[in-house]
Amino acid sequence: MAVERTLSIIKPDATRRNLTGKINAKFEDAGLRIVAQKRIQLTPAQAGEFYAVHKERPFFGELTEFMASAPVVVQVLEGEGAIAKNREVMGATNPADAAPGTIRAEFAESVGENSVHGSDAPETAAEEIAFYFSGLELVG
Ligand code: UDP
Ligand code: MG
Repeated sequence: MAVERTLSIIKPDATRRNLTGKINAKFEDAGLRIVAQKRIQLTPAQAGEFYAVHKERPFFGELTEFMASAPVVVQVLEGEGAIAKNREVMGATNPADAAPGTIRAEFAESVGENSVHGSDAPETAAEEIAFYFSGLELVG
């Protein structure tokens, strides 16, 4: 399997509860390398631009307000099959369905406030990484 990069976000519910280190340990224990990382404050408009694919969904307003409600940690994870591996470590969107030991099973508060975002395919990973990081910030 090829070495990939994927975009991860530690969401406001998790930064508020000081869980950045515990979540990063889950990534590193799974063999993912954090090759770029920064803590930023999104505006609702920026969150809406990032989640534009969901703009017709009923939860869109709530999602963009939530993502702008506190700082987030945006990061690039690298490793063999990193996109799928990260989705595995994250667990299902709804923490009630997330497998034991996954980030969402352990930390998520609800289907909306579910601690982490992860890209879902190579094309979206490339677009999402470019949304937050310049080439100069990706040192490998
Ligand atoms: N979301 C929500 N309600 C839903 C489905 C999703 O609030 O019924 C939020 C949740 O924060 C989720 C995000 O919208 O992580 C993006 O949804 P997606 O289906 O892409 O889930 P993910 O890829 O994050 O597992
Ligand atoms: Mg998604």
